[in-house]
Amino acid sequence: MESIIQQEKQCLVCHCTRGLHKHHVFYGPLRRISEKEGFTVWLCARHHNMSNSGVHFDRELDLEIKRLGQHVYEQTHSREEFIKLIGKNYL
Ligand SMILES: [Zn+2]
Ligand SMILES: [Zn+2]
Repeated sequence: MESIIQQEKQCLVCHCTRGLHKHHVFYGPLRRISEKEGFTVWLCARHHNMSNSGVHFDRELDLEIKRLGQHVYEQTHSREEFIKLIGKNYL
């Protein structure tokens, strides 16, 4: 599924368009659900996993993107549906 979070193919954080990585907002065991439901965003290498400001190392950024994902999902679904899917409430 296409991202439900982002229309533009650019880094979500700095908006650059070079060397983008596809990041699964809910990763680990939830990676497949992210892929299926469109919880994906584009990030440049720096904001993904190639520096300490990357989402995989910066807990705050990670939570911020997860909250954004939940917020967008809840435009068309209930909170209960989100929690059933992801197992947690981030908002
Ligand atoms: Zn970036
Ligand atoms: Zn990632």
